[in-house]
Amino acid sequence: MKSRVLVLGAGFGGLELSTLLSEALGEAADVTVIDKAEAFVFGYSKIDLMFGKVDLAAVRQPYARFAKPGVRLLHETVTAIDPAARRVTTDHGTHEADFLVLALGADFDPEATPGLQEAGHEFYSVAGANRLRGVLPGFTRGHAIVGICGFPYKCPPAPSECALTLHHSLRARGLRAACEITLVTPLSSPMPASAELSAELMAAFEEARIRVLLKRSVVALDAGRRAAVLDDGSELAFDLFLGVPVHRVPQVVLDSGLTEGGWVPIDLTTMETAVPGVFAIGDMAKTGLPKAGSFAESQARAVAGVILARTRGGQADPHAGQGSCLVEFGDGRIGWAELDFLSGPKMQSIYHAPSHEGRAHKEAFGASRVARWFGP
Ligand SMILES: Cc1cc2nc3c(=O)[nH]c(=O)nc-3n(C[C@H](O)[C@H](O)[C@H](O)COP(=O)(O)OP(=O)(O)OC[C@H]3O[C@@H](n4cnc5c(N)ncnc54)[C@H](O)[C@@H]3O)c2cc1C
Repeated sequence: MKSRVLVLGAGFGGLELSTLLSEALGEAADVTVIDKAEAFVFGYSKIDLMFGKVDLAAVRQPYARFAKPGVRLLHETVTAIDPAARRVTTDHGTHEADFLVLALGADFDPEATPGLQEAGHEFYSVAGANRLRGVLPGFTRGHAIVGICGFPYKCPPAPSECALTLHHSLRARGLRAACEITLVTPLSSPMPASAELSAELMAAFEEARIRVLLKRSVVALDAGRRAAVLDDGSELAFDLFLGVPVHRVPQVVLDSGLTEGGWVPIDLTTMETAVPGVFAIGDMAKTGLPKAGSFAESQARAVAGVILARTRGGQADPHAGQGSCLVEFGDGRIGWAELDFLSGPKMQSIYHAPSHEGRAHKEAFGASRVARWFGP
């Protein structure tokens, strides 16, 4: 009898896992993927979107184009998860599985930061980034803050990319001298996993006269006085606030009882939760690794290996914790680090200095996923 695999979420993790199982098993696979959205959007497109470099239609990859042997993708919303029974309820019915994989990502909670919705803007959701397209052209003078409201958050270097892209866009509009930019980050460096990229980013901030407040986060915005309140009680007046909202696992995951401290604990070698046959990958898993699409893919590889080993025999390779972090410097240059957290005795990082040639690498990163998941 075929083993039924139910994958919740068709983001980086879910798309890669179902593609791997289809490649291994073909029509013999019995994989159901569920997603409430109609299209996939790369996280990094949000920076391009907010600064008007691309429009929404150009960055959407409709799920209607996802077709793999042995896999069906259902457009449904998950409303309840019963891990012990490996049973999932959606707005369309119920699904049961032999292997249940949660890949629902992280949701945003702008309400957790008082004043953010009234006085600021978040740029981490597609809707938020798309709204900013209409807001940023109106910012011509004053103080802009790029502020992170909680940790952990997706893609550690993305707020740095936002601050640098803002600098270069204001410069191109002849407005930079009339504006100040401050980056507020809870991290101890712009990208802790790569000392080289962090040093490059700090040098770029200095050159761009971007003030950086490390180890600080934004806890509230005072809408009346237009001031950001930081976690040490200090305040910064602003004219434009671009925020990274507090991240949380989706409510349906919290309600499933699988979380601990707000995230889903897993066995780091297999990505299996405390419930046998139930796995969690990507942003919602409590891994201590960066929350990024390439790391979700690495986790998908580990789970595919476990499912194939348990159904066909053999040994699964342990989760290697590999991924890459691409960093836009806002002037056309892109640098990146290839990271490997788990396959050796200590974390390894291969550094690629920012360059204009780096753009080809980023374009290939996106194009290879589009080709792999959505076909030619
Ligand atoms: C500004 C920005 C820049 C980024 N840059 C990069 C980068 O350069 N490189 C990189 O690797 N990563 C980057 N990321 C991070 C990357 O986008 C995420 O880490 C990645 O998408 C996580 O993959 P995932 O599979 O865990 O979740 P997601 O890709 O978020 O997928 C989760 C899916 O679950 C679905 N879902 C959620 N709830 C339900 C429900 N109740 N019912 C049904 N479906 C549901 C969603 O619709 C979604 O499709 C960036 C993120 C941002 C915000």
